[in-house]
Amino acid sequence: MTVEIVNPATGRVTYRHELLDAAGIEQRLAAAAAAFPTWSARSLQERGAILRAIAGQLRARRDDIQQAMTTEMGKLKGEALAEVEKCAQACEYYADHAADYLKPQLIDTEAQRSYVRYEPIGCVFAVMPWNFPIWQVFRFLAPAFMAGNVALLKHASNVPQCADLILAVCRDGGLPEGVFDVLHIDNDQAAEVLRDKRVKAVTLTGSERAGRSIASNAGDQLKKCVMELGGSDAFVVLDDADLDKTVAAAVKSRFDNSGQTCIAAKRFIVVDAIADAFVEKFVAAAAARVYGDPQDEKTTLAPMARADLREELHKQVQASVGKGAKVLLGGEPVAGTHAGYPATILDNVEPGMPAYDEELFGPVAAILRVRDDADALRVANDTTFGLGGSVWSGDPVRGEGIAKGLECGAAFVNAIVKSDVRLPFGGSKRSGFGRELADHGIHEFMNIKTVYVA
Ligand code: NDP
Repeated sequence: MTVEIVNPATGRVTYRHELLDAAGIEQRLAAAAAAFPTWSARSLQERGAILRAIAGQLRARRDDIQQAMTTEMGKLKGEALAEVEKCAQACEYYADHAADYLKPQLIDTEAQRSYVRYEPIGCVFAVMPWNFPIWQVFRFLAPAFMAGNVALLKHASNVPQCADLILAVCRDGGLPEGVFDVLHIDNDQAAEVLRDKRVKAVTLTGSERAGRSIASNAGDQLKKCVMELGGSDAFVVLDDADLDKTVAAAVKSRFDNSGQTCIAAKRFIVVDAIADAFVEKFVAAAAARVYGDPQDEKTTLAPMARADLREELHKQVQASVGKGAKVLLGGEPVAGTHAGYPATILDNVEPGMPAYDEELFGPVAAILRVRDDADALRVANDTTFGLGGSVWSGDPVRGEGIAKGLECGAAFVNAIVKSDVRLPFGGSKRSGFGRELADHGIHEFMNIKTVYVA
């Protein structure tokens, strides 16, 4: 089957490629299984040296990778280049820290010696999304390689050239044949791959819908899975927040990457006493985002990644407005564009509206006005999601009090929620389970083995 890739900035088909047939899939599964014993037996120093070489390759090919991201999913040039650098740093981080994360943990018991040993499990299947097409993959790959695992990637179908470039930098960095490969396959073929005995576990970053399907298949096969799903992060503004700093952060968190970030601030929960002042400055700052060609460095609002995603987002906006939300900015697709949506702000958002109950995966901010700190926390937790959340206050202790009460995987005070290789990343509630990054991330796909010598 041929897949056509449409540049979201122009609406033109820029690339066509073929899905793999059964023989192509079998060849890659066999190569992964064959590569595992040798790869896992290599020393951490050897694996670390290859990861550092991959970091070098990422930097050397940063312009090609940026071009692929921009033409396939519309990412702004500057954001794409920053993403490549973040991946290179993650490779170096795990090359530096894996020995520490993986050293045996001695535990005092009545035995002569008892300890925990971390052992690789084999081939991990990664199903990844288009929104951070390089970072989401390296966030998984860097710890997986240092752990001694091998990996197969099914990338989102709209970013095949990004997937091929990831493979190219890994090969050019000296990664042996079979340790990593890309499967250009559809979702039915992905289900078959997950069923294969040579695949030991699966990791997904994507929607709840994909999560339900993959996690139930993994459960059926009794295979471990990590689920990084959607979010509707609260951005809680208390009455003593520094407004200029808070508004700048709000705009960045909501409108970077055209709002298509799982940990973007989506629900702006603002205490009444400061709400009008916040909203006025927020609307003015968001209105300054300029929609345009993502390759042009003057553009500050990218197109959405696909026309169908824009349609879905617009339906959510219209349904929210139909139920009483007030449009303060934007609210209609950018005329004459394939996938452009303007910076949009909806006020008076209440339960029962998609802007309150669902994830808005695009450049649309929802303002939820609340009475006080306690009301803010109640509303922040009134969601099925639990990925991240941030609190903004002149008093960090007061902010931290709210942060501790947020039901989510990452709560930040006076800072935007972000993924950082040094800190664990993952969700609670319907945002998923399991952790990536830091030491938690490298241990997810390892056998945590107890050794007891009496
Ligand atoms: P999907 O969840 O459909 O795509 C993410 C990845 O999962 C892609 O590789 C996709 O493949 C794959 N996938 C989807 N369904 C299955 C399945 N049944 N079995 C195996 N693989 C599957 O995201 P969309 O592109 O449709 O984006 C829609 C929504 O997903 C967004 O609005 C947002 O809510 C959420 N999302 C969240 C992300 C996050 O960072 N947490 C990232 C991207 C999306 P394929 O492309 O071939 O369908």
